[in-house]
Amino acid sequence: MATLILHPGKEKSVLRRHPWLFSGAVAQLDGRARSGDTVDVVAHDGRPLARAAWSPASQIRARVWSFDVAETIDHAFFKRRIAAAVARRAALPELAGQQGLRLVHAESDGLPGVIADRYGDTVVVQLTTAGADKWRAAIADSLQKATGCARIYERSDVEVRKLEGLEAVTGWLHGEVAGEELVIEENGVRMAVDYAGGHKTGFYLDQRENRRRVAELARARRVLNCFCYTGGFSLQALAGGAREVVSMDSSAPALATAQRNLALNPQLNKSRALWREADVFAELRNLRASGENYDLIILDPPKFAHTAAHADRAARAYKDINLGAMRLLAPGGLLMTYSCSGGVNAELFQKIVAGAALDVGRTARIVQRLQGAADHPVDLAFPEGEYLKGLLLQLD
Ligand code: SAH
Repeated sequence: MATLILHPGKEKSVLRRHPWLFSGAVAQLDGRARSGDTVDVVAHDGRPLARAAWSPASQIRARVWSFDVAETIDHAFFKRRIAAAVARRAALPELAGQQGLRLVHAESDGLPGVIADRYGDTVVVQLTTAGADKWRAAIADSLQKATGCARIYERSDVEVRKLEGLEAVTGWLHGEVAGEELVIEENGVRMAVDYAGGHKTGFYLDQRENRRRVAELARARRVLNCFCYTGGFSLQALAGGAREVVSMDSSAPALATAQRNLALNPQLNKSRALWREADVFAELRNLRASGENYDLIILDPPKFAHTAAHADRAARAYKDINLGAMRLLAPGGLLMTYSCSGGVNAELFQKIVAGAALDVGRTARIVQRLQGAADHPVDLAFPEGEYLKGLLLQLD
């Protein structure tokens, strides 16, 4: 096995159990390693630190598999880690019976580059790094053994793979089904999951608890759901007894799925749902011009900043939509607003939203801080894992 030697001082983050080793930390690679191979990570003085996956094409040159320098990285390693991740979810009552569940959340489950989501009897796996890609067979086998699922589909078609020098890979790794849509039940609502063509692995599982919160809040309210995708928040608002739910998204296919989802739920009052294919930035202004107002507005936009380098541009975009939404809120109205940008942390996000409230001249109070559901845990040693942050605000 090759040895990756760090520059003096660069062992500090590894000792704090942070799993990423950037190119600037690496002094040299002793021996030969191909992309994805396991390497021994040592401090400049030779002190052993960790075992990691080598990613020569990426700025993140290596990602730690194990901080135990004696642990062998083999099929059994993945079996142990995946079984442990599945067991952690089973131990949490709010997750135990979920049909849609994130089983493996990458770094925060000790498996950099490995995402696995369960939808009923099917697991959808996404491998985003050279190390994860190399262990595909072991990962698929371990997922099958840990869950007993009949089918495993791979959705490794994300942009970030390019940074690792990897091509897109999609298809069945185990079993198969004829159609491209699965249906899961979430908080009592049936939702279709387009695992082959949808965003991520087909569904935003991270918002499960927050959608439930919307159901609690929606009774008799006029709701505006911006960036609705396949209608997760919209259907929960209807289930919660909203008076009217207006949902918008710029994607026609997403809206089509949203309407199919509504049809999957005959218990919901269809006549209260309105769907609009629109650009949220422009439409918030149009709604203002036409004098509309709402009692509950949800803003769950896509990632505006992939890294801290894009934080400025992202901040302007967040401010713009939050400002637009606040102008449309009736007195006493609620705003549920999110950022899933890694480059914008919770503190900065709160500042941006505070700036919007100031500009519209309204007092906004935090009712609740929101985050991803418990199957998207954040390892304290890896704060980057905390990508989703939200605020529930009540406006005067
Ligand atoms: N809230 C959703 C997830 C939102 S994902 C859920 O709970 O499932 C972000 C969505 O924003 C995507 O569906 C994308 O099509 C949409 N989108 C991106 N830019 C947009 C824009 N400028 N206007 C409207 N929709 C946009």
